[in-house]
Amino acid sequence: MPIQSASVEQVAIDVAQKPDRVPWRFTGAAIMKLTQGQTYLAIPGPSVMPEAVLRAMHRAAPNIYEGELIEMTHGLLPDLKKIAGTRHDVAIYIGNGHAVWEASLANVIAEGDRVLMPATGAFGHGWREVAAGLGAECEVIDFGRRCPMDPAKVAEALAADKSHSIKAVLAVHVDTSTSVRNDIAALRAAIDATGHPALLMVDCIASLGCDRFEMDAWGADVMIAASQKGLMVPPGMAFVFFNEKAAARRAEMPRVSRYWDWAPRANPEAYYQLFCGTAPTHHLYGLRASLDMILDEGLEQVWQRHDVLARAIWAACDAWSAEGPLELNIADEAHRSRAVTSLRIGKEHGTRLRRWCQDQAGVTLGIGLGMATEDDPQSDGFFRFGHMGHVNAQMIMGLLASVQTGLIALDIPHGSGAIDAAARVIAEA
Ligand SMILES: *Cc1c(COP(=O)(O)O)cnc(C)c1O
Repeated sequence: MPIQSASVEQVAIDVAQKPDRVPWRFTGAAIMKLTQGQTYLAIPGPSVMPEAVLRAMHRAAPNIYEGELIEMTHGLLPDLKKIAGTRHDVAIYIGNGHAVWEASLANVIAEGDRVLMPATGAFGHGWREVAAGLGAECEVIDFGRRCPMDPAKVAEALAADKSHSIKAVLAVHVDTSTSVRNDIAALRAAIDATGHPALLMVDCIASLGCDRFEMDAWGADVMIAASQKGLMVPPGMAFVFFNEKAAARRAEMPRVSRYWDWAPRANPEAYYQLFCGTAPTHHLYGLRASLDMILDEGLEQVWQRHDVLARAIWAACDAWSAEGPLELNIADEAHRSRAVTSLRIGKEHGTRLRRWCQDQAGVTLGIGLGMATEDDPQSDGFFRFGHMGHVNAQMIMGLLASVQTGLIALDIPHGSGAIDAAARVIAEA
């Protein structure tokens, strides 16, 4: 069989069934692919890595006893705090978001302590599970998958806790599964109004460096973040920021695991204590480059860029929604993340559209997460756009136009004018 005339499917079948009869010279060159070229991983983490970050990491192993690395590491701390909006302490961990879920709790929650989790999506439930694994008793207020938490309900639960047995309120700023954004300052005010001493612990893993967040001004006692989202560094490094109130609570703990203990990490007497062992050498160089990028652009400008790009995405989604099944998961713009957008499109369409965009256009969308129902156990009716970190107007316009093309190719009903609507938002900015 002349290979030039074989279809992709036929070649795949031949390879699978008669591998010894398939000529070695087959290269696949006869098949045109519109995915060749720069691809875009438009998922909510890991996010797109800037060339500057990759270049900074491309180096031989550095000396970990003295010299450049040591000085550079100490210089990272004030810049991390600037981005977090805090003058307090930060501890760095080699780990992902799950690591700092555990690290943060391990310093302030003892076995048998109670925590309150106002959940607004899968990540809230994930953090709660980590708390349960540490022996905490978790009270959940579940706000479902389409709306933000109601601070008044949290206040009610705290007011009912007369003995102050609840030690912490665990709040997720942006729940990456639902793309809801919670009002942390309002939550602080509601907690304060009850006079309850519980710590306010906030997960900013999806929002730091994307959505406005001000740890001290908003009154978070503990805040956690990770490297692979707004900070544009590969997964593998994560951060716990904590204030004096949290530090005082840490000091009262009956015991804290040696590895998770934030005290020596935040105030090390020797360099190795910063990481409780070998430093994450190359991640540190990558982080230096990313913090430089964020601070050179200006934090306010970074937030503004995310805001404009997010609004362009929503404008396109609103136009698509005018006809057909596509729908933004969070109706109220004020409660939407600027870093990730979660969409509903009806069973199967979500997975079909993601497949099409990846296989035909070279852009990978996020899967639906934590949206499973009995009718849709795999969350096939959902998808997400990640628009965090190193993204700009041409990437977002390309992303939206690719989705538009996928909707046409797959014959999924949709309203018209989406690209124009997005263009208008960007043009007006
Ligand atoms: C990504 C994410 C996590 C989990 O981070 P991992 O690195 O996957 O462990 C936790 N919380 C939020 C809000 C996230 O976006």
